[in-house]
Amino acid sequence: MLAFEPSGCWSPRPRMANVQAGSLFPGDAAMKIDGRCHCGFIAYEAEADPEMTGVCHCTDCQTLSGSAFRSVVPSRQGSFKLRSGEPKIYIKTAESGTKRQQAFCPNCGTPIYSTTVEDGPKVHSIRVGTLRQRNEFAPKLQYWFRSAQQWTDNLGSIPKTEKQR
Ligand SMILES: [Zn+2]
Ligand SMILES: [Zn+2]
Repeated sequence: MLAFEPSGCWSPRPRMANVQAGSLFPGDAAMKIDGRCHCGFIAYEAEADPEMTGVCHCTDCQTLSGSAFRSVVPSRQGSFKLRSGEPKIYIKTAESGTKRQQAFCPNCGTPIYSTTVEDGPKVHSIRVGTLRQRNEFAPKLQYWFRSAQQWTDNLGSIPKTEKQR
């Protein structure tokens, strides 16, 4: 079977090749961020480093986002706080048996984050489309590209309109 993730698709992996001597470790340059779901029931704040932003093409992210891929950025560990609302949690079990919480708004269905099921300070994989600062979080790496929808590699060549056609 192709492309079902072994252990939860996207966990922050510092890219050692990009670390210059004496520079910040990727993930250290976290900025304050905040976001909300479409209906406004869920609001949150956290800290995250734009350099850690990624796109995940795994088949679970395609299904769970209802789209071709998902943009995610990991929060700095322990920095995620809900400002309002309480998300509904769906526990996704990977083929490996690893369980992962998928949080979404119970009213409007907007995916908010995923995280581990254990207690303790967590890293939250925040869904970038819910961030107020989303324009500053351009992806730096694409994950699970072996299961990517082939057209995503040529997105720029597809005809465009400024608004709905
Ligand atoms: Zn909502
Ligand atoms: Zn994924």
